[in-house]
Amino acid sequence: MNTIVPFTDLGAMAREIWPAIGADFTGALLAGRYIGGPEVAAFERAWASYCGTEQAIGVGNGTDALLLTLEALGIGPGDGVVLPSNTFIATAEAVVRAGAVPQFADVDPGTLLLTPETMRAAVTPQTRAVIPVHLYGQPVDMVGICAAAEAAGLVVIEDAAQAHGARWDGRPAGSFGVAGCFSFYPGKNLGAFGDAGAVVTSDPALADRIRSLANHGRPGGAVHYAHDLIGTNSRLDTLQSIALGEKLRRNEEWTRRRIARAEQYRRLLSGSPVRMVEVAEPARHVYHLMVVRVSERERVQARLAEAGVQTGVHYPTPCHLLPPLRRFAGGPLPVCEQAAAEILSLPMYPHLTPIQVEYVCETLLEAVGGGEVLDGAAS
Ligand SMILES: *Cc1c(COP(=O)(O)O)cnc(C)c1O
Repeated sequence: MNTIVPFTDLGAMAREIWPAIGADFTGALLAGRYIGGPEVAAFERAWASYCGTEQAIGVGNGTDALLLTLEALGIGPGDGVVLPSNTFIATAEAVVRAGAVPQFADVDPGTLLLTPETMRAAVTPQTRAVIPVHLYGQPVDMVGICAAAEAAGLVVIEDAAQAHGARWDGRPAGSFGVAGCFSFYPGKNLGAFGDAGAVVTSDPALADRIRSLANHGRPGGAVHYAHDLIGTNSRLDTLQSIALGEKLRRNEEWTRRRIARAEQYRRLLSGSPVRMVEVAEPARHVYHLMVVRVSERERVQARLAEAGVQTGVHYPTPCHLLPPLRRFAGGPLPVCEQAAAEILSLPMYPHLTPIQVEYVCETLLEAVGGGEVLDGAAS
């Protein structure tokens, strides 16, 4: 069966922006400007402004954004960092690579996100930081998390890799914690033509430290062979900044289209055995992923594939059960474990058409047919 509805369509976004960036792109390429320069600084300013923070620091990818932030905050050996187990491995990887201990928390059964309660249950005297993850594009209750973190004396670092343009009560994801970490991996809502990432913050000292760590420990300014710290090489490229700048100009329009397709999915699937991930009232969910829950997920997914509908699972194994992370598991996390068996990510991207969504829903409803109604379905 040919693909009728792909899971995503990155080429469509590239084709849309290319007429606007082609000249700048070849200009920088043929002039030999590849790392740093005015294009990077311009994108950093635009990104900080979009996120409502004072600064943005372009880095190599989202994993490095998290790792560099932890390092810059001096979080390492002996420190615990609370994070939800329902996330991409990179969140935990950054904690382990910083030398700290990941402390896995469970999530809310409706939103599948970290809550102040599930966070508190994972905190120990060793805990120094918490990383709420705005998973699938829906922001965590950042007012609740920040209050709970403050009461427990914890630093808040947001993993906003899936949440470009998401807002909690009108305020952008990434602007609540001491820092917000973004990925511009091609498949993310705002994606580069390769790997890229950024940290946003309004703390100037933290920004300077991250910028220096990401650039071989060089101090601010342009002294090429001065090094104050042992850093690494994790920078945002010039060509990526040109592409990201143009995509950012379209991001609100593209996000509105994602939200419209998500509303259509919700309408067409309501009252069926397909259970929706709930959206909290003050959240602006930007639908990086359109995640639903079904019983007999493998059978349903195979049926959709037969009908030409590509789907995904984000993620099939909660982090605390992944082989390299199991040694950090504190105990069972029943909500994460149950959800991992049921979640299914449906096609979602700005160029998805209403007719394609109808086709996906018809096929999905037929596949779940007489299926068991999951607790909370049709809500
Ligand atoms: C993609 C992602 C990351 C890592 O970003 P990369 O740019 O791929 O390194 C971190 N956390 C979450 C939740 C992600 O989805």
